[in-house]
Order: sequence, then structure tokens, then C-alpha cells
Amino acid sequence: MAAAEVLSGLYFIQRGYLNGNHFAWNGPEPVLIDTAYAGGWPRTRAELAALGVEPARVGLIISTHTHCDHIGANRRIQDASGCRIALHPAGAGFMRTGDARSPWWSYYAQEAEFFQPTDELGDGQTIKVGPHEFLVLHTPGHAADGLALYHAKDKVLISSDTLWEKDLAVMTLGVEGPDAVDQALASLERLAGLEVRLAFPGHGPAFSGFAEALRLSRRRYLAYLKDPERLWRDQLKRIFIFTLLMHGPVDEKELLGKLLAAPWYPETASRLAAEPAELFRDTAALLRAKGLVKEGPAGIFTTVAA
Ligand SMILES: [Zn+2]
Repeated sequence: MAAAEVLSGLYFIQRGYLNGNHFAWNGPEPVLIDTAYAGGWPRTRAELAALGVEPARVGLIISTHTHCDHIGANRRIQDASGCRIALHPAGAGFMRTGDARSPWWSYYAQEAEFFQPTDELGDGQTIKVGPHEFLVLHTPGHAADGLALYHAKDKVLISSDTLWEKDLAVMTLGVEGPDAVDQALASLERLAGLEVRLAFPGHGPAFSGFAEALRLSRRRYLAYLKDPERLWRDQLKRIFIFTLLMHGPVDEKELLGKLLAAPWYPETASRLAAEPAELFRDTAALLRAKGLVKEGPAGIFTTVAA
């Protein structure tokens, strides 16, 4: 898929579910916003090369949060270029202290590397992406260090995982705490005050129906508050698929072993008062019935795009 120009010289690169969407401004000192998943590097590098962006020339990376699917190439690009990396102070703290749980990496047994934060982006600050000035909004809920970036002049919002068009990013109460849904709702209210012509989510295509997206997200979060089991079931399905994306086609027994070894899975099973192996069979069957999981010669795999 060809990158789309959002603002002069600033390109949106739409990826899949394992790799978050990302951006590149291809000026003399290129600026990147997010860098996808570590394992997606060959494709990330090719997408950047197609825009004339060489990793060794990058001047700045802005990270919308420190989840593995958004910071995957930060370390590698920083090693090659010595670039600055700007992010919310909470995420900068996770990186400085070697905290692998707060950005979910150890909780979900994800692949990710620590990097050196150089600039902290607090709520209400502005940051330049080449000539384009963005307002920084701290939007916790999905991620404690979650940021949205707003270009007021062109009414463009980089909403990352705070707002998707028709779906919600996974919620992780096991790490974010019991009030994460309330925080996510408050973050939506924060965004609702903006005038947005075009929004760029962390996953999925750009969209113009900002008010409708807000309405759908609000409704889903409120449904979680009403019925918390729904949240844990959604998390289970999403991370089951994410784990399959990380490990490719895999033998079912091996996959169950991987899930049992990651802290989130036993915790989710206990929240759902389910026996872990039985929950695995039920979840695999449910995802198979939806066509999201299939059987191949090398094991089970997901049809969701990486
Ligand atoms: Zn995320």
C-alpha cells in the first residue's frame, strides 16, 4: 500500500494489527512518528526507503506510546542515527528504569527493546514535525503514556490507539489498573473538544467520521463498565490473535504453552472463572468460527493482517 501524504512532506504509512501505523516526514533530518513492531522491520525499512528516508539520517522519533507495536524500531534507528526520541514522561520513565511491564511487554511476552528517551512531551506542549506544529494531548486509558497529536491549522488528528474508527484498542486492566476505562472515557472527552477533519488511528485506515468514531468508542467503554467480563473476553480474543501474529503458524500445544507462560493469560482465565486449557479450546473454536483463525500444515494461524 502506498503511503499517503497527510501534510506537506509528512506521510502516513498504514500497516496492520501486529504493526501499528506510522508516519515519516522526509526532510533533511527526517522525523518519524512511531516505528511499528520489531519483527516488522524489513517492511518498515522498505516503506521508509520508498519515501527516501534512510534510518541513519533520522533526526527525531516521536512515540505515541511505548507499546511494542509502536516502538519496534526505535532502538535500531537510534543506534544507527543517534536520533532524539520524544515521548510522554511516563513512557520515558519506563525506558529509563528498564520497566518492561508498564508498557505491557513482559505481561504479554512481547518482543521489544529499550531505547534512550531524550525529550519528554507533556500535555499541552507543542512539537514540530518538520515545519508542521502539533499540539500534544495526553490521553491515558489504553496506555498510561498515550499521546494524541493535533495539527490545529489543518484539523488533522493523530489519534493513535486512543481512537479508532470502528473498534477499540485492547484494554489491559491487569497493568493499567481498574480505572483504565474511566481514564479512556475522559481521554475521549478531551478529544471531543477538537475540530477534526481527518483522523489517523494507530491501526486501520484514516477516517473523517470523527464524531461517529467517538460515539462508537464511548458506547463500547460504557458497555465494559456495565459488564466487565466483556472487557476480559475482548482482551482474550485480541491478545490470542496478537500472539498468533507474533509467532506465525504454530502447533496448538506450543501456543497454549506460550499463553500459559505469559502473565496475562492465567490472570484473564481467573477473571473469567475458566480453566486455562478449556478457555484456550473455546477461544480457538470461537475465532475459527469467525474465520479469524485457521488450520494449516504448520499449525494454527490468524487471517488478520500483520
Ligand atoms: Zn497501544
